[in-house]
Order: sequence, then C-alpha cells, then structure tokens
Amino acid sequence: MEFEIIDFHAHPYESEKNCICIHPTAIKRSANEFIKDMDRCGVNLCCGSVVSLDKKPENLSWWEHIKPLNDEALEIKKLYGDRIFPGVTIHPESVETSIEEIDRFLANGINLIGELVWYVQGYNTYCSKNMQTILDYASEKGMVLSVHPTDYDDMDKLCENHPNLIIVGAHPSENEAFIRHVERAKKYKNYYIDLSGGGIYRYGMTRRLVNEIGAEKILFGSDYPICNLQMYVDGVRNDNLLTKEEKRLILSDNAKRILKI
Ligand SMILES: [Zn+2]
Repeated sequence: MEFEIIDFHAHPYESEKNCICIHPTAIKRSANEFIKDMDRCGVNLCCGSVVSLDKKPENLSWWEHIKPLNDEALEIKKLYGDRIFPGVTIHPESVETSIEEIDRFLANGINLIGELVWYVQGYNTYCSKNMQTILDYASEKGMVLSVHPTDYDDMDKLCENHPNLIIVGAHPSENEAFIRHVERAKKYKNYYIDLSGGGIYRYGMTRRLVNEIGAEKILFGSDYPICNLQMYVDGVRNDNLLTKEEKRLILSDNAKRILKI
C-alpha cells in the first residue's frame, strides 16, 4: 500500500440497528462487513462514535439512550481493537456521568470524544455551562474532540472556551460554511478540519484548504457508512492537486499525531 489510511471520522457499529447507512437494503450491514469494506478500500483504522439516528424513546433519559452506544463502542474495541478506534459520546444533561465515561474510555486507551452529533442528541450548543465543565475536564485529560458543527459563532466560542483542547470540525462544505471553517482554523491553533461529508466533491476544495490552513490541520474522514468510503479514499489518494507528502499527512500522519497512536 502506498499510503497508510486512518479514517478519522466514521461510525462503527456492532449491532445492525446502529449501521447508519441510509440505503440499508443495498448493503450488507454486519460488523464484519464494515471491516471488509475497510479492507477493500485500503483503510487501516477507523475512528469515531457509535451513533443511533433513532428518535429517543420518551421514557428514557438522554443518558439511558446514549450509554448503550458507548458500551457498544468499547465492545467493538475488544473485537476489532487493531482496526477500530471508537470515540466516546458525552451529554450536557449528565455532567458527572459524562466525566466518568471519559475516564472509562481513557482506561481503555481511548482519548477521542465523538463525533458528537448534537442534532440527534437533543441540544444545539457546545458552549452550555454543563458542556463547558465536561470539556474542561476533557481538555485537562488530553482528549481530542470530534464534532458535527453547530452554528458558526457557537463553533468559534467553543474553540475560544477550550484553547488547549484539540477540536476537529467535520464537513468543510462550501460557501459561507467553508469560509468560516477556514477562518476558525486560522484563528485558533486548536481547530482542525476533517474532510467527511460535503465539500470534497467540489474540484479543488482540498487543495484550497491546504493552501489556506496547511496540510497539518486536515484529517481524512469519510462519515462511512452514511457516506461512500471508497469515494472519499479515492478523493484524497488520487487527488492530482495534492503532493505525496500532503496526502501522507492528511491520510494518516495527522491522526496519529493528535491521537498519539
Ligand atoms: Zn459523522
């Protein structure tokens, strides 16, 4: 393999119900198949949280809804530890428990929070008092935070609130969203961008991002299995506008550096 590939933004699962592919009838959804897809695409390691897109049942608290996802994440680590680096999900409604959960993941060698996906987890800011308390602790412990962006100002404030926490914003997108990602990465040394979701299909996007913020702050991400892993891999590996060294940083070296692996 010419490049080692670490997918910083994926959503692994063990149980088929947590496979978030939106065309589930078209694919094989077993956890084994997830690994096989990684093999087919030449991906060495996938990072990220187990996510459920199901609506939270009314009789459950947010934490009761989320806890099984974290349990599943650690289960996957046990089963496929050399291929999957799961992220922990935290929740602003449960400060103490979220902090304990960070410790539980750290004890299992995991220093990654998220991707946090606020819009399926019942809140819309990463800057509430409770979230700040949890993220202050995360920062102290040297965690890395992966987030689905909230609104532009909220994301700026998040970076400002936790200057020593590495924060990776997903989905570079285009137009104003792209510009705000770039400005944020220039202004805050702790802000990185992962390539998952919208943006990469626009010709020149990754090159422009490298020009603006430097290849050191860009991480390869796919959002697999919601997005097509092969398309994202090829979108970087075969991008004729990037140098070999830039590809190496984006595809694996940066993730290794920030996750200390
Ligand atoms: Zn995602």
